[in-house]
Amino acid sequence: MSSSVALRLPSIDGLLRHPACAPLAERYGRDSLLTGLRQLLDELRPSVLSGQLSAVEIGAEVLAGRVGERLAQQQRSQVRRVFNLTGTVLHTNLGRALLPDEAIDAVQMAARYPLNLEFDLASGKRGDRDDLIEGLIRELTGAEAVTVVNNNAAAVLLTLNSLGARKEGIISRGELIEIGGAFRIPDIMARAGVRLHEVGTTNRTHARDYEAAISPRSGLIMRVHASNYSIEGFTARVPTAELAELAHRHGLPLLEDLGSGSLLDLTRWGLPAEPTVRQALLDGADIVTFSGDKLLGGPQAGLIVGRKELIAKIKKNPLKRALRVDKLTLAALEAVLGLYRDPDRLAERLPSLRLLTRPQADIFAQASRLQPVLADRLGETWSVCAVEALGMIGSGSQPVARLPSAALCMRPQVSKRLRGRCLLNLEAALRALPIPVLGRIDDDALWLDLRQLDDEPAWLAQLPQLQVEP
Ligand SMILES: *Cc1c(COP(=O)(O)O)cnc(C)c1O
Repeated sequence: MSSSVALRLPSIDGLLRHPACAPLAERYGRDSLLTGLRQLLDELRPSVLSGQLSAVEIGAEVLAGRVGERLAQQQRSQVRRVFNLTGTVLHTNLGRALLPDEAIDAVQMAARYPLNLEFDLASGKRGDRDDLIEGLIRELTGAEAVTVVNNNAAAVLLTLNSLGARKEGIISRGELIEIGGAFRIPDIMARAGVRLHEVGTTNRTHARDYEAAISPRSGLIMRVHASNYSIEGFTARVPTAELAELAHRHGLPLLEDLGSGSLLDLTRWGLPAEPTVRQALLDGADIVTFSGDKLLGGPQAGLIVGRKELIAKIKKNPLKRALRVDKLTLAALEAVLGLYRDPDRLAERLPSLRLLTRPQADIFAQASRLQPVLADRLGETWSVCAVEALGMIGSGSQPVARLPSAALCMRPQVSKRLRGRCLLNLEAALRALPIPVLGRIDDDALWLDLRQLDDEPAWLAQLPQLQVEP
């Protein structure tokens, strides 16, 4: 809008004294308000000079309102809770496992008070932080010794470097995997100072392939659980027990990176079988590495378990100090491990297991309950159905296994040409809610898999705020 009379922006002083700004100064502090006002006026100045703004648009009330919105935005945390309705339960980009109350309480305690992180209360002498969880992990896995680092990638790096630096690491070509986020076994080996000696082929590797590779330069044999893909058909893989026997015959340690790794046999809850840590050790693996926040259901951590003298060597590596876990992680980990002592109640108490084992009928009933509410909110343009769906465990556990689940499936009732845009608009609108709702687009529809919709009241409460362009 142009005007013949040149308008002038209000002065900063004038604005600061204006009653509309007083509550903002109170709430966000005078300095933040001042910075916000300066930025806003600087941005508006060119439009005012070229006559594009009206007197109302640069009035104190309007400006105070705009600064208020900005300050509120800035004050909002960047770390935000979301609804993970993607169908992938242990979603790496969404924080993987959710902690049980016991672990949350332990984290609070550890955050609030001094604690015996590296202090032995019995002797009054300096302690070792690994000691806090060593007893529990030994009990749950049968391992002789334990050390914990920041994540499983760190566990693999530290183990390789401690046991195989300047020597050769023998590994099957079928196990040279890449996991999301640029974690590739050959690269990690190189960074650990281990020379990669690959054997066999992508689909078939035999004991004789390993045997032929062993020489005085060999430092270790490594086995990696192919977590995010599966090889099917004409395949061959040496069983861990046989590989361990071969390694030990030549005086080499066998490392097994289980990735997710499970402490218990998941088939007891109807889930697909995952190798357990105890079984890998029983089969003869000397060191086993696995994640704390995948199937274990705890905080981000990398657990290294196995033979006492090897763990002692790993703990002496200066890299251990660089990769060690903090007190909050240890507190959470101990609490989660504690729940494993009572497997009968684990599925009730450990959120990731509870969600993974939620019956499909239960999820479908929830979808049917929410369908009319969502249909009503979205109006004519959308068809909303409660349907059966297939989810995934995630985090590289059982890449081909599917979890029978149920979803709200939303299809735009528009011409094919407009469908894509419509879906992206709805997806963006769901993301813009106070607690962003994340689903997945597939087959010309937006799917909200409800397996993980625990907090239905919060989800429903914000639905009226969903703003979808018609
Ligand atoms: C996930 C995974 C890792 C990395 O574990 P993080 O805890 O994500 O660091 C390493 N190896 C395998 C086989 C995995 O599946």
